[in-house]
Amino acid sequence: MFHTVLIANRGEIALRILRACKALGLKTVAVHSEADADLRHVQLADKALCIGPAPSARSYLNKNELLIAARLTDADAIHPGYGFLSENAGFAESVENAGLTFIGPTSASIRLMGDKVSAKRAMKDAGVPCVPGSDGPLPEDADTVASIADAVGYPLIVKAAGGGGGRGMRVVHKPADLAAAVSTTREEAASAFGNPTVYIERFLEHPRHVEIQVLADTHGNAVWLGERDCSMQRRHQKVIEESPAPGIERAAIGRIGTLCAEACVRTGYRGAGTFEFLYENGEFYFIEMNTRVQVEHPVTELVTGVDIVAEQLRVAMGHPLSIRQDDIELRGHAIECRITAEHPWKFTPSPGKVESWIAPGGPGIRVESHLYSGYTIPPNYDSLIAKLLAHGKTRDEAIARMRVALDETVIAGVDTSIPLHRQLMVEPQFANGGFDIHHLERLIESGALYSKVEQ
Ligand code: ADP
Repeated sequence: MFHTVLIANRGEIALRILRACKALGLKTVAVHSEADADLRHVQLADKALCIGPAPSARSYLNKNELLIAARLTDADAIHPGYGFLSENAGFAESVENAGLTFIGPTSASIRLMGDKVSAKRAMKDAGVPCVPGSDGPLPEDADTVASIADAVGYPLIVKAAGGGGGRGMRVVHKPADLAAAVSTTREEAASAFGNPTVYIERFLEHPRHVEIQVLADTHGNAVWLGERDCSMQRRHQKVIEESPAPGIERAAIGRIGTLCAEACVRTGYRGAGTFEFLYENGEFYFIEMNTRVQVEHPVTELVTGVDIVAEQLRVAMGHPLSIRQDDIELRGHAIECRITAEHPWKFTPSPGKVESWIAPGGPGIRVESHLYSGYTIPPNYDSLIAKLLAHGKTRDEAIARMRVALDETVIAGVDTSIPLHRQLMVEPQFANGGFDIHHLERLIESGALYSKVEQ
């Protein structure tokens, strides 16, 4: 049991967590960098504490400072949000050792899933289908590596076991390029993630990204909350997410969802999590698990009616999940547009003062944002400034509502990705749904989106 939650994050997710805590009657502590004193959740928290200068390494990633802040403010639990230290097993362990509650899985679960090789092995053992590839880390010996690669087949992808954020991956099309790709990825992995382990997977050429949201408690219960299609990506970063995934047979998703929930029980997983899959030619292939709340969790909240952050808090308090699998039913269709402070076509960051912010509204619209008129977006962090969600009885209705909401939204003073989203919402191919993960980049490269807006 705990009473005061320290929110070890910033921006929209810190505000989302604060709201969930307040609704459950919990006290809140906001910790912030020197650049973030004006954040909305800092103003609304019961206590606020500055933990360091603007660079994340010296504030939001400073484990010791966060633990000291918890002690100073009598916080007895820490919610890490997403990004920053949310998937750092060492931090979760320090929180556990300090006698505080880490609102997430155990450090052992984070460690298991944080290494993609051990995660794949655990999933394979649980009967979850994985991308075919090397069974474990690649050995040093070049001839053995070459024969493993031949068995997997080309094209293949060399991936770092400790990789994340779309980094530490290299596609290889022919045997002659293999050795160089393996050694470069190893070197990069060693310096970027402190772990030189690499492995090989078959490279799927036209997959969709479909993920399963799960929730598990400490009483042996686990549920899956439908799926999200996150195939609209640029540079492996999600731009639009939706649920349900258009055109995929419900029974197939049901089978995968059940396997994911069973894998949670089997591995002693607790809290919220996401199993990420590539989906190609009617088959699902597990690629990784995220052991935290995700940016796109509200998409699932809209179609299931479940408050995922509240469930995270309840599970961390030791309560059983408030829902059973039979209670979960997907209603209608939900879409999320990630609004970033970036130039819509050049993607250059655009921090600065928001002269005016007018949020959209109406039936089925939800906005998750820390913006307010007069707020200054600092240049130091991720460019996500708002998540705009639309829910409708059908996908077409959700898209129509999203179009109206995007037209209504005013963010003056900085460039935003809203023009890109407006254009995507009228794209004929988006209306069909079911595109692969390269679709958005192809559209951007073709200039089709930009030229339409310019006309
Ligand atoms: P990260 O942890 O960096 O997000 P992932 O393993 O989740 O890495 O992969 C990120 C993205 O890279 C996927 O969404 C997909 O676009 C691409 N990718 C990863 N593995 C494969 C694969 N085997 N075949 C094709 N694309 C892949």
